[in-house]
Amino acid sequence: MSVKTICALIFWVSAFSCVAQAQDLDGCVALDEPLCVYTQNRDEKLQVRVLNNRAFDMTLWFDLKLVNMSVLASAPTVFVAKANSDTFYGEIGIVDKYQDSSYQYSYESLRGNALALHSEDALYQLPYKTGTTHYVSQSCSTLGSHKDKANRYAIDFAMRIGTPIMAARGGRVVDLYELSNSGGTSTLHYDKGNFVTIEHEDGTLGDYHHLKTMGVKVQIGDVVKAGQIIALSGNTGYSSGPHLHFSVLTTTKAKEHSSVLVNWKTARGVLSCPREGLALKSL
Ligand SMILES: [Zn+2]
Repeated sequence: MSVKTICALIFWVSAFSCVAQAQDLDGCVALDEPLCVYTQNRDEKLQVRVLNNRAFDMTLWFDLKLVNMSVLASAPTVFVAKANSDTFYGEIGIVDKYQDSSYQYSYESLRGNALALHSEDALYQLPYKTGTTHYVSQSCSTLGSHKDKANRYAIDFAMRIGTPIMAARGGRVVDLYELSNSGGTSTLHYDKGNFVTIEHEDGTLGDYHHLKTMGVKVQIGDVVKAGQIIALSGNTGYSSGPHLHFSVLTTTKAKEHSSVLVNWKTARGVLSCPREGLALKSL
């Protein structure tokens, strides 16, 4: 049996631009902002810091423009702000104190760590109960709802609403949403999917989508092992029928999310892109 489902994930790229004077001490409107960049004066030098209050890493791409100022330390173009951190980004100083000086920075940001590399040795458990079987309803593809980079290597498993979802790989829960009760194939459903995101030890993100309303069984910050229940499946978001959409995402230096090939441990051996319609039993 082949059940055709369609789904897609939407992520964001946010851009921020700031023109600041050297006497500004703080570029953050509030220190509990999800992400902000701020400056501090230190011995006539200006220290630039990044405050990331999110539970997941963020990558920032900086564009720094200096007039009569120079970089004294660090200040890379691509910078990763670790989860829940207040991190030194760089330091700048005035070249000639008798001349006018100014600085300007702008940045774009995206969820995830662009310096992370997916471990090719990682072996993933099928994301449902040991001994149970589910059909692959959509696999790796260059067509349909899996054609874009973020979904290219995603796998859909058909299952009834309320099926327990297990972590395919261990890690830390960094993001989740469970309040949506809306699902369908209108573009209005793109951002209506419930989900859990687990950060793996290599910095990649495992995304479990279309979960049941109020069906998440973990909290942000929880450390989970492979095979541990994390949620109940559903049909929320952009979806034509009940299923789980699973993908492992990296954040690329091209400022986008890209899914990666996953090696699945199955009763049929190790499979990477199981064909659609294939019944897979979890070991
Ligand atoms: Zn899918």
